[in-house]
Amino acid sequence: MSTEPSISASTSASTSPPADAPVSALTRVRRWFAPGVRFLPSSDERQCARCGYPFPGGAQGAPAPCSECGAWVDPTEARTLRAPVPGRFVQWSLRAPGLAYSLLVCAALVVLLYSGSVPGGYFDSGILGLCAIALLGLFGILRAALALVVGLRHRRLGDTARQPGWWIPPAVVLAGVSTAQAGVPIVLGFEWRRATLEANAAAWHAGTLDQVPVAQGGLKRIGSTPTPVLEFPPMSVYADPESPSSRQARVQPDDFRGVLLQVSGSGFMFESGAYAYLPYLPASTWLPDLVPLGGGWYVVRLRDDW
Ligand SMILES: [Zn+2]
Repeated sequence: MSTEPSISASTSASTSPPADAPVSALTRVRRWFAPGVRFLPSSDERQCARCGYPFPGGAQGAPAPCSECGAWVDPTEARTLRAPVPGRFVQWSLRAPGLAYSLLVCAALVVLLYSGSVPGGYFDSGILGLCAIALLGLFGILRAALALVVGLRHRRLGDTARQPGWWIPPAVVLAGVSTAQAGVPIVLGFEWRRATLEANAAAWHAGTLDQVPVAQGGLKRIGSTPTPVLEFPPMSVYADPESPSSRQARVQPDDFRGVLLQVSGSGFMFESGAYAYLPYLPASTWLPDLVPLGGGWYVVRLRDDW
């Protein structure tokens, strides 16, 4: 009974499409994402509205009791029989998640990438982005599993899978993960703060760092003196030029003259990060806790309770 309107709707849509009904761009995009799987009654085939048993003669049959359940079936009365089109739940479960879902996934990903745009990360937005991605991912996986089962049962798996709405969200997540892996957020965040960072570096060269306001541009200096860098765990292993680490990296303590700048609100508990300006460190040096950004700048990972 409840399927009857959808049959007439889909049949009339196929025979007489609304000629020049204006379709907005948004509607077109939404339809493109999740057009759904279309079921059209292929013939006059009909079944008993109560039990779904095939009715002999279909729409052209003579009124008779259903041979399965005994209900009176009269083809002139639409509510006593139905076309073999699956119900709303099946049609809903085969329809891909729509545009709104993909936009939510994008938004969660942007929040997550933003959390990685600073050395040490922003904890709050990181947790928020991860939780949102996890919840959206769980929803998407459950919907896909349901569509797989229903699609197999109704032999429409191909049509179901052809909807872009199934594939765009995971593709977006994969692209986001690759972007993060490639270090794009940290580079963008560095460029975003570059003017402030360079101002601090210039002041350090000029010996006027103490005159630069603390927390200028959302940055705070770690340590108050211009040469504090070797006091911090990642660099202290190079303080002794005879140590294996220093020898292996071929660096001298003097190479670590510089300044550390931390973004307010970044980092979490035992691990945080900072921008390190180390203009005397040979550019070819590879050190485990330093990621070069160019121009003497590095991202440095700070651990422990220094
Ligand atoms: Zn029946």
